[in-house]
Amino acid sequence: MALRFFNTYSRKIEEFEPRDPTAQPISIYTCGPTVYSRAHIGNFRAYIFEDLLQRHLELRGYKVHRVMNITDVDDKTIRGAREAKVPLAKFTEPFKKAFFEDADTLRIKRADEFPAATDPRYVERMIAMIGELIARDLAYQADDKSVYFRINKFPDYGKLAHFDLKQLQSTGRVKHDEYDKEHIGDFALWKAWDDEDGNVKWDSPWGPGRPGWHIECSAMATALLGDQIDIHCGGVDNIFPHHEAEIAQSEGVTGKKFVRYWLHCAHLLVDGQKMAKSLGNFYTVPDVLAKGYSGRELRYALLRVHYRVPLNFTWEGMKEARESLGRIDEWLQRLNEVTKKENAQRSTPNSQHPTQQFEGGLDDDLNISAALGFLFESIRETNRAMDENKLDAASAKAWLDWWKRINSVVDLEPETEIAVPSEVAQLAKERENARHQKNWTQSDELRDRISALGWEVRDTKEGQKLTPRGAA
Ligand code: AMP
Ligand code: ZN
Repeated sequence: MALRFFNTYSRKIEEFEPRDPTAQPISIYTCGPTVYSRAHIGNFRAYIFEDLLQRHLELRGYKVHRVMNITDVDDKTIRGAREAKVPLAKFTEPFKKAFFEDADTLRIKRADEFPAATDPRYVERMIAMIGELIARDLAYQADDKSVYFRINKFPDYGKLAHFDLKQLQSTGRVKHDEYDKEHIGDFALWKAWDDEDGNVKWDSPWGPGRPGWHIECSAMATALLGDQIDIHCGGVDNIFPHHEAEIAQSEGVTGKKFVRYWLHCAHLLVDGQKMAKSLGNFYTVPDVLAKGYSGRELRYALLRVHYRVPLNFTWEGMKEARESLGRIDEWLQRLNEVTKKENAQRSTPNSQHPTQQFEGGLDDDLNISAALGFLFESIRETNRAMDENKLDAASAKAWLDWWKRINSVVDLEPETEIAVPSEVAQLAKERENARHQKNWTQSDELRDRISALGWEVRDTKEGQKLTPRGAA
């Protein structure tokens, strides 16, 4: 069966056909982080869904060229820099770094390019696009010196969000919403400089100012991927006004259909409400790691539910993620053991591998819940076969190969063991002796010394276990 996605534009499940089926790679644009603070795990739900999309397309033989922008100039970043009394670039730098760190912790495959909105190449393009929109009468400079998109002149405006123009209300991201504009829904392309912007400004034919958030994405997307893109993603909150505006700007300039498939993921919720910075109900990746969970466990917790279904974040859910991964780990360990011994009376035929079901589940609008359902069903069945000593080494090996294939999409491989430094190993040995002699004070002291070296020691039935502290 062909790949199918729910296209927000048509509100229908559509078969995926790239713009040019003979040309690779296909192009994907994903709206990236606004670097005014550390991204929260709600943002990462969106990035994990995009990661799953890219990996599944690759499994299906597509080469992918993916761009994710970094919004490093907008109202929030400017306000943050002003409050911190540092230049904009200095203010955003640590949040950019944190974003990459967290993305790595969650095993998110890097996009091919991460253009930043403040890069002079793109600012130049934003200015050129705005000039073109004015020339086509699709934009105008208002009395407040800012330049706005004239939505009444773009008949398709509202088609992505399925909005009636008359119902448009003002939105938080638009400056000077209350006056000057011809229509309440006209959005800023160029924001005229004012005192609050400090020294954040660029020269333009309309005077000093800075680009609006929406034109940033149109400029970076078309600069790097061309006038027409195969897939564009984001969270559902991006549909309006951001993506609606991206369509109006890009198509207003090029006259060509900007995006073939619009995919949006539902929100990560906390107590039924969107996880958001503004609501203060968010967790960051380090918050979750500090509770003793790994990046792999968080990845699983954010990945396991279909991307179009809202997902409530709970610690109970994190515990379930840990349990599910434990079942995978135990299964892999058993399979590995079976590959080492010829012990079976009867083998399970390879045809039982649920490759079709797993990959077919993902073909169906990335139905990860169905795909994981097949995985756990297979685990149950193979475990039963192993309990009855009915799985031979070759079949176990085939199951491991199957896991390798699906793991290229889900990336949930158990952590590889990290070598314990000799100094830590020596202290652990001394601690073991101390515990044999029931010298608990010395045992605790040694635990602290091990901890000071960045390692955590846990006492289990099988003896001491050493793990790097805060390991993902
Ligand atoms: P921002 O940094 O606000 O521009 O958001 C970056 C990405 O995260 C966008 O694709 C948003 O749609 C997405 N996003 C923001 N909050 C959530 C949430 N609670 N759940 C899922 N995605 C979100
Ligand atoms: Zn965007």
